[in-house]
Amino acid sequence: MDDELSLSLSPPAVSRLAALVLLDGGGDLQFDYIIPAELADTVFVGSRVEVPLRHQPKPGTVLEIYELSPDDQRSLRRVIRTFGDRPQITRAVLKLGQWVSDYYCVPLHTVRRYMLPESIHSDKHRDKVRRIARLARPVTEEELEKMRKRAPRQAEIVEVLQQAVEKDEAVETSAFPSAPSLKALVRLGIARIDEEQIVRDAYADEDFIPTTPLSLNAEQQEALDVILRAVEAPREQKPVLLYGVTGSGKTEVYLQAAQKVIDSGRNVIILVPGISLTPQTVDRFRSRFATIQQEVAVLHSQLTQGERYDGWQMILRQKARVVIGTRNAVFAPLENLGLIIVDEEHESSYKQENELRYHARDVAVVRAMMEPCAIVLGSATPALESWYNASRGKYTMVSMTERADGAKLPIVRVVDMRLERKRSSKGEPSVLSEQLRIAISKRLDRGEQSILFLNRRGFAGSIQCQVCGHSVKCNHCSVSMTSHKELGRLVCHICGFQRIPPKVCPECNDPGILFAGFGTQRAEEVLRRVFPKARIARVDTDTMKEKSALRDTFNAFLARKLDIIIGTQMIARGLHFPGVTLVGILNADLSLNLPDFRASERTFSLLTQVAGRAGRGELFGEVVIQTFSPHAPAIQFSRHHDYEGFCEQEFEFRRQCGYPPFGHAVLITARGEHQRRTEFSLETLHKRLLENIPHEILMGDPIPSPLEKSHNQFRYQVLLRARLTKTMTEHIRKVLAATKLSHDVMITVDVDPVSLS
Ligand code: ADP
Ligand code: ZN
Repeated sequence: MDDELSLSLSPPAVSRLAALVLLDGGGDLQFDYIIPAELADTVFVGSRVEVPLRHQPKPGTVLEIYELSPDDQRSLRRVIRTFGDRPQITRAVLKLGQWVSDYYCVPLHTVRRYMLPESIHSDKHRDKVRRIARLARPVTEEELEKMRKRAPRQAEIVEVLQQAVEKDEAVETSAFPSAPSLKALVRLGIARIDEEQIVRDAYADEDFIPTTPLSLNAEQQEALDVILRAVEAPREQKPVLLYGVTGSGKTEVYLQAAQKVIDSGRNVIILVPGISLTPQTVDRFRSRFATIQQEVAVLHSQLTQGERYDGWQMILRQKARVVIGTRNAVFAPLENLGLIIVDEEHESSYKQENELRYHARDVAVVRAMMEPCAIVLGSATPALESWYNASRGKYTMVSMTERADGAKLPIVRVVDMRLERKRSSKGEPSVLSEQLRIAISKRLDRGEQSILFLNRRGFAGSIQCQVCGHSVKCNHCSVSMTSHKELGRLVCHICGFQRIPPKVCPECNDPGILFAGFGTQRAEEVLRRVFPKARIARVDTDTMKEKSALRDTFNAFLARKLDIIIGTQMIARGLHFPGVTLVGILNADLSLNLPDFRASERTFSLLTQVAGRAGRGELFGEVVIQTFSPHAPAIQFSRHHDYEGFCEQEFEFRRQCGYPPFGHAVLITARGEHQRRTEFSLETLHKRLLENIPHEILMGDPIPSPLEKSHNQFRYQVLLRARLTKTMTEHIRKVLAATKLSHDVMITVDVDPVSLS
């Protein structure tokens, strides 16, 4: 291209500096460009720039800057301009992005979009400013008197501004009807107009009363000391796993650790699993840091575009001292990091499930290592992966075994639903056992509150015998098989093994084997019928579509305007309701029989988290678990609040089957509107993989996903397992690049999947 050549050779002041630029948009294009001398001071690693590509200027991000060697004969084109005079992605975050791209098998430009969201560099959401009028100098009474005669409008303005100075208020220019008079005052040097950025704060309407640090108990102090040692010498220290039972005061430890880091001049990132899940946690942080309210940035998905823009600007201008946010906040371009806190680190919502399937906790650990800074992962039920890392000495563990508020752990009762069925005449599954019904009505009599919990996921379920509790598992994988109606079969989602669903229970020969379960709506109906006078609210994704609905319901519950909340996962986390003395788990089997090797871990952690909601105040708590499998380890260990015992036996199972944490998994999914083409694409890919992969990689057969069809797309999947991720991703990448597939079928590669559906 001739004109390209002439452009790039056009002199004069060409520095010897060049930039490697990653262009926005698909293809992961990276090219070198000369940095013209006049831009040399404003182009940095992480800067957003405009560069020529063919005949078009294109936006991109500077990945590297280097000096051209004298014998470099390439004729490079030049950077056209920069956006802003400072880098918008820090060097550390850029390095982190490269790691994420590599580990999770996603193009760097996709990761880049999460490091710097589109809304931040688009023009639409520019800073909102207000114009403030101020006196530029004192005006004497004499002077004012003269002015009143000569220019009464100007005099009025001066008077208002004088009053504003006394009251220490700011007056916006729009308060004055006469713009020319104000301008005249500015010209005369009497007034001046300042532009101030308005920070759109989602929490502006709420008052945060500053809270003072509590005096820590011995366990908390020990935890704080360990964290602060890591803050002092992050290079020599490992990630800290803070294992503390619910109510042991972990949040107080985070708050004091964060405070110390801020006092020492460094900054803090706090990750929370999901804002809607933990509004109270965020509020506790905002309250504690109320005095530096202007320096706390909150990042989560429910902010308006404008609020998000301002939050990011605060961080980009290095004004934020604390960033609290959901998983994407792990990419916040905050410099001078002292500490990263990952609250409820076991939560599966840290795993993003879209085009970029990364795990924010794992990425946070890598970031802490790169910065370097301290990191603390906290949970009452750490993920098995984290527990394993602690037991191998890769993490430092501190534990807190006592509840800080002096409350006792609740009594846990397990109700055997197999006996309930014998009692009821109809064949349908019972929603409310006699024991739970009595427990609820006692609470209603005493004016105490109850939470009822139902873990319900929307896809085809497992089948379970209502008489003996037996559920059908894969012979090879020890994981519950899932019914696929279209196939008319049960399928194992690990290895792909299929079988015809049994007509009678293989254990007890009863024909009462059927699909397990009922939904929250059904449960609500039953409750309203049994307790017509109770004030009941249902909390699930259907009833909580409105942004504020969840907050409102929780506030009503806190204010004791409700007696019973019935809900899904949404009510399980991080909430603190002093009036709750009863927690009922309506059907523990729903999560026990998930088609996933994590079913048991999920159930244990869910039961523990939910039980932690009971008896957090002065009152004693009780938990009632309804189940068809009362002897399942997840239920028995959680009943005795024995996380370590649970881990030990679960490790045995995982080790035997080679499941994580004893190895890694990668899930490949094909989606498409055309069923045959989608299935065929995955089969082709599977065949190519078989020809290529070494035998230390275990690969299952291609099968329909547990959620066979979603958003009008058919889904097929195959699971790979090996000791190291890299072994798998290297081969997958190679095979994907060399295999031509139908263009309307989308392939996703999910590294370390947290859900097999
Ligand atoms: P966790 O985050 O481990 O579930 P929280 O931080 O929510 O525990 O603490 C549970 C309760 O104990 C809260 O009401 C908190 O205010 C209180 N608490 C925490 N630390 C202390 C302390 N040192 N002294 C008295 N109360 C405390
Ligand atoms: Zn299997």
